[in-house]
Amino acid sequence: MPCPLLGALDCRAPRRGLSRRASALGDNARPDKTGRGTRRSAATKTDTGTFLRSLLIVASLLAAAALWRILGPAPPTSEGTVTVARTLKAVMGTDCEVKIVLRADQEPRADSAFAAAERALRDVEALMSRHIERSELSRLNGAPAGEKVPLSARTLEVLKASRDLHRETRGAFDVTVWPLVRLWEGAGKVCRLPSAAEVAAARGSSQWDQIRLLQDGAVKTTTTAGADLGGIAKGFGVDLAVEALKKEGISGGIVNLGGGLRCFGRPPGGDKWEVDVLDPFRADKKETFAALWIGEGAVCTSGNYHRYSLINGVRYSHIIDPSTGWPAKASPSATVVAPTCMIADGWATALCVLGPEGLALLPKDAGMEAMVVVGDPGSAVAYVTEGFPRLFKDPPGIPVKPWRSAVPVGLIHRGVERVADDAGHLFARHSHDVLRGRSADEEDPFHGTLGDSRLKRLHALRVVLLVIDLREVVQHRE
Ligand code: AMP
Ligand code: MG
Repeated sequence: MPCPLLGALDCRAPRRGLSRRASALGDNARPDKTGRGTRRSAATKTDTGTFLRSLLIVASLLAAAALWRILGPAPPTSEGTVTVARTLKAVMGTDCEVKIVLRADQEPRADSAFAAAERALRDVEALMSRHIERSELSRLNGAPAGEKVPLSARTLEVLKASRDLHRETRGAFDVTVWPLVRLWEGAGKVCRLPSAAEVAAARGSSQWDQIRLLQDGAVKTTTTAGADLGGIAKGFGVDLAVEALKKEGISGGIVNLGGGLRCFGRPPGGDKWEVDVLDPFRADKKETFAALWIGEGAVCTSGNYHRYSLINGVRYSHIIDPSTGWPAKASPSATVVAPTCMIADGWATALCVLGPEGLALLPKDAGMEAMVVVGDPGSAVAYVTEGFPRLFKDPPGIPVKPWRSAVPVGLIHRGVERVADDAGHLFARHSHDVLRGRSADEEDPFHGTLGDSRLKRLHALRVVLLVIDLREVVQHRE
């Protein structure tokens, strides 16, 4: 806001004073006989004038600043702001916490802002939930082969993003696992593992090559094909809720929906938001594992700890490994930081399938960082991307390591290779071919920790591979 007082004091008054004094000096200047006196006396007078003028300017500026402080608008401080929070109940199968930062005089706006955020979330749910019979997604899933199902731009946006993620994650993020998700949910209810044939049938009945996305809808080539957007739609809903809040004039806040959140603007009295990551090994107690500093952006954590099926005392994750048709086991918790919640959500689900190997697949220069926990409570390690440690306010109480490529320790068997990291944790690395119908009774063949002697051999193998690598580099140079 322009300040008329500052303008008057800064410009007009000193200039008027200076011009008057300058003309008076000019009028009074009389040359003496030597000329020097006149010059000296003129110089002295000019110095005095300059000094007085400077004094006047400084005094004017100080006075202006003082008046500006008294009369001008208050500088933005956190003192004048309030944080208002509301829990929106049962949105997309969970509760959503919305926090907004407002100036105290804006508080009456809070209700309409919360209502706008809730509308955005419920709209996404109504379009994309597989549990709502009349949702667009349910119509697509229930449609016969060859029938075009009209879809809104929003549903198509999420389906297209899912298809892109399927490619980027080399098949680990695959919304067409819909029949497998239902199979494993059913298995959990009756406490019986599905047979290999059931897993194979569910996997074969729905794949991306059976769904064609069009400009304004989709067509399936098989009636059985379908999608489950549970691994990405929540993030999309959060993004839309944040947009809705911004449109309502809210300058800062957080929308937190079941493991995924997005922050915008600034928290009161700070630059960044503090975001807690739950301990995957003590999630039932809601204990914090690590705390992050987040500016503008989203954080999503996926894991096997809050939604799973218990069969014969074994916990099976709700996230399916599309390459095996079995619940993912690579990581109990994966956290992704990204500019949008939709992308963070999709990648967090994918990293639970891929394990730390997936960190190498994250798009570069996309403002993304990630942390993947592996192992059991006693031997857990958090593998991180290069920039992730900079986000820690409180790092986790387990070793945090940058991810280095794992070394193969087992033969490729039906498209899955056994690999181990430098701490001896074992992972499954999938070949590009999607596995179909691997035997369902192959219980956990790829995970665990190597014993000491095998770990020593593994390190020896690493050295050998390093030498081979170096030789190749040298030969290449030659
Ligand atoms: P999230 O909690 O975001 O990790 O999402 C998990 C949900 O995504 C599951 O409950 C399923 O609905 C769905 N889902 C399971 N496995 C996959 C997968 N491999 N790719 C994409 N979505 C999946
Ligand atoms: Mg997800």
